[in-house]
Amino acid sequence: MIRRIEVAEGYTLADYALHAWLGEAVGALRAAASAAAPRLAGRTVWIVSATARGGGVAEMLPRIVALLRQVGVHAEWRVIDAPDPRFFPLTKRIHNLIHSAEEPLPDEGDRALYEACSQALAAELRQLVRAGDLLVVHDPQPLAAGALVAREAGIRAVWRCHIGFDQATPGTRAAWAFLAPWATAYDRAVFSLPAYVPAFLADRAIIVPPAIDPLSHKNREMSVPKLTGVLRAAGLVVGDHPQLMAPFARQVERLTAGGGYTAAGLDALGVLFRPLVVQVSRWDALKGFAPLMAGFARLKTERLASVEVPWRRAMLGATRLVLAGPDPTGVQDDPEAAAVLADLAARWQALPDSVRDDVAILRLPMASIRENARIVNALQRCATIVAQNSIAEGFGLTVAEAMWKARATMVGPAAGPRAQVRDGVDGRIVDDATDPGAIAALLEEMLTTPKQREVWGTNARARVAGSFNILRKTARWLEILAGLADSPARGKG
Ligand code: UDP
Repeated sequence: MIRRIEVAEGYTLADYALHAWLGEAVGALRAAASAAAPRLAGRTVWIVSATARGGGVAEMLPRIVALLRQVGVHAEWRVIDAPDPRFFPLTKRIHNLIHSAEEPLPDEGDRALYEACSQALAAELRQLVRAGDLLVVHDPQPLAAGALVAREAGIRAVWRCHIGFDQATPGTRAAWAFLAPWATAYDRAVFSLPAYVPAFLADRAIIVPPAIDPLSHKNREMSVPKLTGVLRAAGLVVGDHPQLMAPFARQVERLTAGGGYTAAGLDALGVLFRPLVVQVSRWDALKGFAPLMAGFARLKTERLASVEVPWRRAMLGATRLVLAGPDPTGVQDDPEAAAVLADLAARWQALPDSVRDDVAILRLPMASIRENARIVNALQRCATIVAQNSIAEGFGLTVAEAMWKARATMVGPAAGPRAQVRDGVDGRIVDDATDPGAIAALLEEMLTTPKQREVWGTNARARVAGSFNILRKTARWLEILAGLADSPARGKG
């Protein structure tokens, strides 16, 4: 039920230091490491999460683990499997409630299930940890298991919560009440934004916004030949002459063979020479794929019909939409994904013919994380606009990824994207991510203002380089872990 995850070493700090804009961050990480290393010597830092694939947590953890190891910290990453098939659907409901989505509130039966599963997980986790070790537990799924181990074995522990909503609703209150008995067992609780900290954890909360690795396969520079090659290898462009916009035949095959979604529109879709709006996310209703597609349809019908300036008409007429996410069979803790994708495919089927041909729903292969990352990198780099139309979003690493690539971003007004994009400075924020009319109007404005797009993209890149890079985050984690190691040991029980 608990699996060890291998982590590739990746770039060394010396490699990062060669990049002018990362030198300072490497220096800060080295300084944090020399202060922390003696305090962490002889201890293992156990990092526990719910999945190694798909989503922001799985994106960051391998890099943080690799960097911690490079500076001499013994870090181990473990992923939990569900002890019961109802476990991940329940934790997903709690996740959704924290993001204020409509869901049934948890009841006593849910609590009993969560406790029983957590006890089974804790029994296994306890076999691993030794006195003096530190535990870092991510999100609600392994929260209670970690709490049990921390309490029973007297282990110092941090809970890293990647989700949050900036208002209190009956749903968020019920979810927090469900989690509170476990969350309070932790010495520290780390959140992405101050607005996400529930009052009962304020005494131990620390804010650490997520970050991207600028040298990862997801984010590193890509030459045009490389980019074309990646898309061709993925079946998204075929033939020796990508400019011919050959059909996405292989991708269509994969989609149809994989599970019966003819999530297509692909034959007619080119990515390299036509304006593209791209959103890459997990298949989650809160990511706002459906309203984005409806907004795009409105742009291509009603709004296009009223545009008179010829070049604007041409621009909007040529624009295409790509909605991409992980193949649901490859992501273990996201039970809703298949249903969300099926719903989206049905909405796609119902689009007017002329619009359908300009929309592609891509189920990206998950067998190789590297291949997946390269495809995401290439798609984001091809985009005229990267959308992240989230209705709720704890942070939204995809936004930082697109900003780093100097793309113009259009984001929903959720707190996470808003913490990254300053409206009109490094991208645009749509007033209401559920309103197709507002989305269509903003897409039209952004697609027809090329100079502004350039400014937003350039500013966006500078903002990410300064604020959201993984070297600085790892330095911060070293401080947190060393502080925890110094704090008095807990009593058992
Ligand atoms: N992602 C990916 N492949 C996919 C879909 C998403 O690699 O097919 C990545 C995406 O690039 C980003 C992460 O998953 O790095 C999503 O993180 P984010 O914080 O945006 O949202 P979360 O999934 O954590 O809610």
